[in-house]
Amino acid sequence: MRIGVDLGGTKIEGILLSPSGEVAEKIRVDTPTRKYLETVDALCEVIDQLQLLSPSKQCSVGIGTPGALSPSNENGLELMKNCNSICLNGEPLKVDIENRLGYATRIENDANCFVLSEACYGAAVSARTVFGAILGTGTGGGIVIDKQLHTGPNRIAGEWGHNCIPSSVRELIAQDRQCYCGRKNCNETVLSGRGLKQSHLEKTGIELEAVEIARLATSGDVAAIETIQIYCKQLARCLSTVVNLLDPDMIVLGGGLSNITQLYAQVPYLMDGYVFTDNVLTMLAAPKFGDASGAIGAACLWPLV
Ligand SMILES: [Zn+2]
Repeated sequence: MRIGVDLGGTKIEGILLSPSGEVAEKIRVDTPTRKYLETVDALCEVIDQLQLLSPSKQCSVGIGTPGALSPSNENGLELMKNCNSICLNGEPLKVDIENRLGYATRIENDANCFVLSEACYGAAVSARTVFGAILGTGTGGGIVIDKQLHTGPNRIAGEWGHNCIPSSVRELIAQDRQCYCGRKNCNETVLSGRGLKQSHLEKTGIELEAVEIARLATSGDVAAIETIQIYCKQLARCLSTVVNLLDPDMIVLGGGLSNITQLYAQVPYLMDGYVFTDNVLTMLAAPKFGDASGAIGAACLWPLV
């Protein structure tokens, strides 16, 4: 049994994962708002409870978080960065949890945990190289090769959300979009839920949430269908750069916009002509796990023993 914990903005979900990838136990508690030490307490409490529920002696513990641990600073400390739950930023979360528990843990970004869950037990179980693309409030990603996360010295492997959308931008967006990161026309400005909303607004003058645009497109609304078609082109162009660089066997989509079924039919064909090959063989798959992927992937941060 392995323990996986997903630290979300509103919920902490902890699970016991069986060797075959079944969720044997699950605990959910509210995430303490804005208080770092309370968050550490809540995480350790969930882990302690799961250890008691486990039939094995002591389980390995993996934790998925927003943001990531920075590489060690001059004091040798790894501090959290890039978290939207800002009380975590600048805090030595891993050390504080390990001091409290008395044993080693692994901590990874939640997008990485998503890809790992799909590669180990989900849609990409048969794929050797997997790129996971999160299309939700933000645009994140991760890379898994042979069931192992690829992270890199900056711990940002797969973070394609703040790459610029490819050239010939005017084909893809009507006007420049300012990203919160300070740059313009980042992938996230078109591929996030807010990006889709903006594309529809620019085209129709109507402001709708992403989920509503997708629903209207499914029910035959012409303007919504056109917006989704533009989104498919944008996604195909952004993914084609990933394929040229990594050439993954499979791309798995995650996040709220991965529910848009049109993506799976259209995007693979729209990559033709932008990937440096005559016949694009990369598979594009919908995720198997929904909200559970963070905790399952966190458990997979440790190998089966
Ligand atoms: Zn950006």
